[in-house]
Amino acid sequence: MSETIRTKFLIIGGGPAGYTAAIYGARANLQPILLRGDQPGGQLSITTDVENYPGFSDVVQGPWLVAEMEKQAEHAGASILQDTIMSLDLSARPFLAIGENGSYAADAIAICTGARARWLGLQSEEFFRGCGVSACATCDGFFFRNKDVVVVGGGNTATEEALYLSRLAKSVTLVHRGDRLRSEKVLQQKLFDNPKIRVIWSHVVEEILGDHAPRKVTGLRLRDQTSHVEQLLAADGVFVAIGHDPATGPFRDTVACDPGGYIKTRPGSAVTSVPGVFAAGDVVDYTYRQAVTAAGMGCMAALDAERFLSDQQP
Ligand SMILES: Cc1cc2nc3c(=O)[nH]c(=O)nc-3n(C[C@H](O)[C@H](O)[C@H](O)COP(=O)(O)OP(=O)(O)OC[C@H]3O[C@@H](n4cnc5c(N)ncnc54)[C@H](O)[C@@H]3O)c2cc1C
Repeated sequence: MSETIRTKFLIIGGGPAGYTAAIYGARANLQPILLRGDQPGGQLSITTDVENYPGFSDVVQGPWLVAEMEKQAEHAGASILQDTIMSLDLSARPFLAIGENGSYAADAIAICTGARARWLGLQSEEFFRGCGVSACATCDGFFFRNKDVVVVGGGNTATEEALYLSRLAKSVTLVHRGDRLRSEKVLQQKLFDNPKIRVIWSHVVEEILGDHAPRKVTGLRLRDQTSHVEQLLAADGVFVAIGHDPATGPFRDTVACDPGGYIKTRPGSAVTSVPGVFAAGDVVDYTYRQAVTAAGMGCMAALDAERFLSDQQP
């Protein structure tokens, strides 16, 4: 393995949170190193239209937006490297991060590794992703105003997504493989009281159907879990809402996480359970999950790191 790279401020993750931490860290003269992991650009790199990131009157493309963030971070003085961290040793100072391509000794670390939406794992879902299939109602619901949409799932995420979409769509059908919802009772009541939402119980999605050129969802093929009878359901959009997995596998033994694996931070800050280690973006946040909130938290992580480092100086 190559020799250990020394830095004041190591940023793990190349999404909106990481790039914003890098911009602020560089401007505070921390000469940060940012590691991009296996999904350079993060979740925005796999989306198409972004209409809700402030500063643009026209629709922008997710990959373009995050490429601009990277350019801005480099321009400010951050070094961007391609590596994925596999483990952290936080027991001594400087901290040590072990990656696939090298190791990094850092005085402060910002973990900005995001989260990944869970998908059904269907080929047709992959094919129509971004063309009628989404995992984010807040991001993409606007494109389905006055249309018929389906939400797949039965937990809090699915219930909240269905309620959110009912304010935009003509109709919302919740397809759930079980015969009862797992969401909070108060949310369930709101869902059952909503005249725009209906639930199809005990059905799984077998296939997402649609036109191939241009790619466009037209419906779903469902299967009854008990009778195995199939039915076709017409829809313009499908929202898969079966949860997210925070990318905290390599860090769970070293920083405190909640039962869902999200890193715990002190409210109103990016401070984790380990002094000098900060966390920002979707790796912390299971509520908002937006590029702009991730960027805001990335800013907080860099400002917190800067304060921490200046307090360490004699
Ligand atoms: C399909 C889709 C559409 C979306 N549309 C919108 C939208 O229109 N508007 C909006 O505001 N939000 C949208 N979002 C949500 C938005 O993309 C996320 O909220 C945002 O990207 C979170 O930023 P983040 O920096 O916290 O994490 P991410 O974007 O998830 O980035 C995480 C980064 O960490 C890296 N990483 C992970 N593990 C490691 C490791 N061990 N070592 C090194 N690096 C690692 C990854 O490679 C990646 O670069 C969308 C999301 C999806 C999936």
